[in-house]
Amino acid sequence: MKTVLASNNKKKLAELFAIMHDDLPGNELLLLSDIGCCGDIEEDGSTFEENSKIKASVPASLGYIGVADDSGLCVDALGGAPGVYSARYSGMGDRANLEKLLYELRDVPDKERTAKFVCVMTAVFPDGRVVQARGEAHGLILREQRGSSGFGYDPVFLYPPLGLTFAELEPEQKNLISHRARALAAFCPLFRKELSKC
Ligand code: IMP
Repeated sequence: MKTVLASNNKKKLAELFAIMHDDLPGNELLLLSDIGCCGDIEEDGSTFEENSKIKASVPASLGYIGVADDSGLCVDALGGAPGVYSARYSGMGDRANLEKLLYELRDVPDKERTAKFVCVMTAVFPDGRVVQARGEAHGLILREQRGSSGFGYDPVFLYPPLGLTFAELEPEQKNLISHRARALAAFCPLFRKELSKC
């Protein structure tokens, strides 16, 4: 049985494959485009768990093991926004999302700018079994951008234990402590256990 990542993002594939390859049947991870699915999947859930499962269910409905992640930034002073809408917050891409976030937080004092990145990894098997795990990284939203690596909200997300933003970390450093790394660390043993039952 082949495993399909419910995404057409090659960077995401490379990142997940680097961590999971030993756990994958045939050491192979396909993209949706590899199985002829080219349209976008509608992510209309209200939680990361729901959206991640909606995505992973698409390959599973075609007889593959579907794997998906869903992630985003939850800011306490904004009642958890942008949350599941992180990618579509401004409707105009990453840069505009970040500018909108700084604008919305303009009057929020430093101590109240707490936030977390969340990632939920899900696998759905063709027989309906579901494996799911969540990872979080907690930090603070700065008033100005710092650093040039990463993507999305990384330049304003300060990770207090290191005193650096996610955009000031080397990718290898970010991959040790990020929400995605934590979700994967919890997900891989569960996924391996379910695979052994196939
Ligand atoms: P998705 O999980 O691919 O739907 O991405 C959700 C959105 O959350 C991204 O477009 C980013 O805006 C944001 N996001 C998720 N993970 C990160 C991260 O590690 N750094 C910065 N932004 C992130």
